[in-house]
Amino acid sequence: VKATTIQLRTPYPPGHVNGYLFADSPITIVDPGPAVETTVPTWLAALAAHGLQPRQVEQIVLTHQHWDHLGAAQALRERTGARVLAPPGVRRYVTGFAEAMAAEVAYYTTLMRTHDVPEELTTQALAVFAGIVPYVETSELDAELPHGSQLRVGGHTLTVLARPGHSPTDTVFADLEAGVALVGDHLLEEYPSIVMPPVQAPPVPASALLRSGMPEMLDSLRATERLGLSLALPGHGAPVSDIPAAVARSVEFFRRHDAQILDALARGSATAWGLVLSRDPEPRGADALYKLAATLGALEMLGREGRVEQLGEERGAPRFGRAA
Ligand SMILES: [Zn+2]
Repeated sequence: VKATTIQLRTPYPPGHVNGYLFADSPITIVDPGPAVETTVPTWLAALAAHGLQPRQVEQIVLTHQHWDHLGAAQALRERTGARVLAPPGVRRYVTGFAEAMAAEVAYYTTLMRTHDVPEELTTQALAVFAGIVPYVETSELDAELPHGSQLRVGGHTLTVLARPGHSPTDTVFADLEAGVALVGDHLLEEYPSIVMPPVQAPPVPASALLRSGMPEMLDSLRATERLGLSLALPGHGAPVSDIPAAVARSVEFFRRHDAQILDALARGSATAWGLVLSRDPEPRGADALYKLAATLGALEMLGREGRVEQLGEERGAPRFGRAA
């Protein structure tokens, strides 16, 4: 596959995001990166290294809704004249990131309060979310890429495949003949992706506040494994050359976490936040939300397996225990 990985700097960990340049027709940028001052010069240098003028770029494709992947879409759209293409759910993040983040902050505030996270930690965690708003410039979205559609990119025909879990809009773009896919943050080589509870519009029923995104993530990983790919190009870090092994590592990581939560519940029933604290007494910043999210993931999977059940409430928060 004639794609070049372009490492783009980001102001938060892990410090880099992978963009991809397809220098053959239709010349395509995948994931332009965050709106920071190094991004556009990095792309201009990459284009020049391939003997390309900015105006030759035809498309900018976005893999999912996260700021570090799409923030510079508008800057590159202006510089190149290329069309911006993304899965349908990404539209609101491209065309109104501040509003989309306000909705996320509102939902995750409700989620954290529901699970009895202290107000101060909730405020701290969500300040991190609000802090990324300046790294995305509002852009037009020129066309949507629905699940199952096909897209020509740099001499390849890519099939668009929805893979929710890491975010609701994660999407894989697969050359099924070549066995190669762009996978965004759905599947990484170096660590399992964070799985986030999908943001829901109010009014949010109580049952929705137990949703974690984990069942979707596991289904998505299995669906990608079934494609039989030989190479996956991820949104961060090194390419994935053994897809079944990378899927297995992620699944095992999640299962180990499930087992740890089940062990913690052997010492007595607890709220989701109580379970977070049993493993880390002082979660800080966005970690308070990420650890709550991971714990809800374990509880949702253990609940589906009939090993954990909800046992009423404590200070209004759902309380969980081992199933009898
Ligand atoms: Zn992401």
